[in-house]
Amino acid sequence: MEITTSSDSIPSKMKAWVYSQHGKPVDVLKLNLDVNVPQLEADQVLIKVVAAGLNPVDFQRMLGMFIETDSPLPIVPGYDVAGVVVKVGSKVKIFKEGDEVYGNINEKGLDHPKRFGTSAEYTAAEEKLLALKPKNLSFVEAAAVPVVIGTAYEGLQKTGLSAGQSILVLGGAGGVGTMVIQLAKHVFGASKVAATSSSSKLELLRSLGADLAIDYTKDNFEDFPEKFDVVYDAVGQSERAVKAIKEGGRVVTIKPVGAVTPPAFRFILTSSGAMLEKLNPFLENGKVKPVIDPKGTFPFSQIPEALSYLQTGRVTGKIVIHPI
Ligand code: NDP
Repeated sequence: MEITTSSDSIPSKMKAWVYSQHGKPVDVLKLNLDVNVPQLEADQVLIKVVAAGLNPVDFQRMLGMFIETDSPLPIVPGYDVAGVVVKVGSKVKIFKEGDEVYGNINEKGLDHPKRFGTSAEYTAAEEKLLALKPKNLSFVEAAAVPVVIGTAYEGLQKTGLSAGQSILVLGGAGGVGTMVIQLAKHVFGASKVAATSSSSKLELLRSLGADLAIDYTKDNFEDFPEKFDVVYDAVGQSERAVKAIKEGGRVVTIKPVGAVTPPAFRFILTSSGAMLEKLNPFLENGKVKPVIDPKGTFPFSQIPEALSYLQTGRVTGKIVIHPI
């Protein structure tokens, strides 16, 4: 693939998807061919976007679910990026033009995420949020990783999951769940990983490392006699999840809205390039793999349709936009 890396050739305008009011992606998201290429802060790099990963937060923000802590409209959506550094700010130390990087451009998931996201030809991000792209991953695969691996890792850390413990993952086939299964098994050393999905996705759960794949259309996990040290709830079922833990067990839930039943707790992702660097070896040795939805990638022209598909809640793994 031919990718321009000379800062001389960076245009002043770019194409980007923009929304100026809240609503459904197909109603409010407009393609704009005349958006200013972002100006860099001293600690930022400019990335030529090669692939952009989508997350539920992109349509949730668009629907106006987080207005109080969001940035002002108009907004270019998109957190996850994989691309090439084409320009660096004056205080950038780690990266240089031509580096292939990936990351989630928003440090705090819901606290004033950037107005100029990754659904564009170029995006700007602080270098501390980025890492070098694992060499064995394509740009598409890398763009599928940052938000979900960060959410999986931070959540597992907060539960204190340790080697030899058991875990139940609710929503095992989604973007976050596919990462939680793999990290629990291959990074945290869980002795038993159980996970839930509908019937057709059980085999995927097993292939990612689940020892027990539970079909939620047939069985209620909370009725099982077996209890777990940890439940990672990526669905929003904390009331049921707390019934599935051993005494002293922990439940983390990540659905950003709705009630949380104690002792379950919720957190919102804080992203960093250092965390990606720490996990890069597991991506490079193939123990942890990005999972891309069977529909494959969506081209840039179909970002509204891709977000609508994500909104169904039936996506397997990740939706990635490519080519841009
Ligand atoms: P996805 O859209 O990738 O999840 C889709 C998956 O969820 C599908 O494969 C589906 O499988 C599965 N699913 C839906 N309902 C159920 C159910 N009742 N039981 C088991 N599985 C189910 O979402 P993400 O994984 O990216 O995100 C999950 C949630 O976490 C979202 O609400 C998101 O907003 C939130 N989130 C929060 C973060 C935070 O910082 N707190 C960070 C990232 C995400 P099937 O078709 O088999 O039902």
